[in-house]
Amino acid sequence: LHVETQLGEGVSVPVDGNPAHYLISVMRVKADDIVLLFDGRSGEWAAKARDIRKRDLVLEVVSRTRPPEDVPDFWLCCAPIRKGRIDLVAEKACELGVARLQPVLTRRAVVDKLNLDRLYAHLVEAAEQCGRTALPELGQMAKLDALLRDWPEGRWLFFADESGGEPLADTLKAHPGPAAFLIGPEGGFDPAEREAIRRVAKAIPVSLGPRILRAETAAIAATSAWMTINGD
Ligand code: SAM
Repeated sequence: LHVETQLGEGVSVPVDGNPAHYLISVMRVKADDIVLLFDGRSGEWAAKARDIRKRDLVLEVVSRTRPPEDVPDFWLCCAPIRKGRIDLVAEKACELGVARLQPVLTRRAVVDKLNLDRLYAHLVEAAEQCGRTALPELGQMAKLDALLRDWPEGRWLFFADESGGEPLADTLKAHPGPAAFLIGPEGGFDPAEREAIRRVAKAIPVSLGPRILRAETAAIAATSAWMTINGD
């Protein structure tokens, strides 16, 4: 179970709302039962259930069961897309192990606002489901030109270019180390954006194959490929 409280031995975590309902009514947790907790930063902790009432309980942290997790240094930078589809990207990016999910506003984006609270909730749910204890960072929406202007020197910027680029697997293999993938919106990147991206010193245009993938498919396929090749 994910909690916002910073965890440590002896910390008491009051739980109510949906998580309490899940523990009390679905999991039928009893006094002194152990519940596993994570706060997204400090690994996984065992906590004892106590003060169980109808709608709330307290979890008292006993000991750490897993150390803080090492996450591969990979960012997924993607343009905002329609609600259900960006939710899917958040869920899969978390499962696949990204360190950061960075929304990027581009000219042809059909959506220009994202509900970051909802996206964060999807990241948390995916982390709970896949046993990940370190939550991905979720960036505020950044404009593409600002993101490119401040691009960190030591990070590859693999740019999924539907108009053609380097072959994926060989390119990823040849460029290990901190990286990001940039994926465009439903309408793709416009020519001026493509030019601007290619001017970033660390940018490498790559192809995801001969077919035009939906933005969410491209995001998941690119992340999965990077994780397979460079993710240990
Ligand atoms: N409207 C664009 C077109 O018709 O050319 C397609 C955009 S595509 C749905 C959304 C994004 O997915 C693209 O901007 C790109 O980043 C990525 N993408 C999709 N297919 C790709 C491919 N075969 N190679 C590289 N990137 C791809």
